[in-house]
Amino acid sequence: MSNFLSYFKDVDIVKIELKKIFSLSEMIKKKIYFMEVCGTHTMQISKYGIRKILPQNIKLISGPGCPVCVTPLEFIDKAIYILDNFENVTILTFGDLYRVVGSKSSLEKEKSKGKDIRILYSPDEILSLAKENPDRNIVFLSIGFETTLPSIGCVIKEAKVQNIKNIFFLMGNKFFLPALEVLILLSRNFISSNFNADSTIDGFILPGHLSTIIGERSYHWIAQKYKIPSVITGFEPVDILQGIRLLVEMIVSKNPGVKNQYSRVVSYDGNLYAKEIIKEVFDITEGKWRGMGLIPATAAKLKKEFEDFDAEKRFNIPNFNNEENLFGCRCNEVLIGKITPIECPLFDKVCNPENPKGACMVSTEGACAAYYKYERI
Ligand code: SF4
Repeated sequence: MSNFLSYFKDVDIVKIELKKIFSLSEMIKKKIYFMEVCGTHTMQISKYGIRKILPQNIKLISGPGCPVCVTPLEFIDKAIYILDNFENVTILTFGDLYRVVGSKSSLEKEKSKGKDIRILYSPDEILSLAKENPDRNIVFLSIGFETTLPSIGCVIKEAKVQNIKNIFFLMGNKFFLPALEVLILLSRNFISSNFNADSTIDGFILPGHLSTIIGERSYHWIAQKYKIPSVITGFEPVDILQGIRLLVEMIVSKNPGVKNQYSRVVSYDGNLYAKEIIKEVFDITEGKWRGMGLIPATAAKLKKEFEDFDAEKRFNIPNFNNEENLFGCRCNEVLIGKITPIECPLFDKVCNPENPKGACMVSTEGACAAYYKYERI
């Protein structure tokens, strides 16, 4: 197994793939833009310096692949509203969300004021914490794409089976694919000198983890409707370079489609059981994305039979309608590839991981955090 995995980090194979990319790139006379839409890819591309070793005419830009980053400010405001207005509340969250600033405060600051906010490492802990604390209202801040929804769905189903009454889910989970189409349309406004006249982004590096759930079949519309090639890749340097090489091959051959470089993990149909759980527990509704606003059919909502667990209903949370970015933060533009993190005037001046101004610097999958860690000039 270790030999198998070391193949994907092998320097000689990296060199072979790069050579192929350089030779193919000479057949393309214009600048082309490939976008990765997965936070883990963003980190890996920065970490391995892949952006810098590619031919001059191939540009990699980062898209909305980080679930924490695309979560609007109002999600944090809603959590703080519950803490401020109800007794005996315990908020459970994964680590990245803890330091994201809402319109007034962050969970980290609220904890320093004595509020009960706990960081989880696995969804399994939600039920045990609820059972250990029967007198408290346990509220889980649920964010993520289709990758995390099945495990949250299982927890919700189990909570119903066990008749647990003190557990609530503040739903911020998103369905990714409709947002990808909005992104294609939005990018027409700001990517120029593009290769593909019908669209703007010339190729997508599709998310590995998400694709294990939704499968290769979910992506064919990208090439059919917009003539944009895309590739599902893994996360090692060889994976990413093979993905880029496949994209360039499709451009050169004028034959856009979907290639699955990550077939060792991603199947054509995805994980049918996981998809069934999603369908069983969640409805789909309009969702608000940082950087892209309201997008139909992109937010997960609990189905009627599970709505006793819905934090919005239980705590009667009002609507929050906030500015997308505060303090001069330009996460909204970073998230759609309009600017690179380095183009934000606050980057590395007043915004850094110690003192983050926006979610893109807080999250371990955020583009600003990736550039700060690996790509500062
Ligand atoms: S560098 Fe900081 S302020 Fe600028 S977009 Fe990124 S997170 Fe926001």
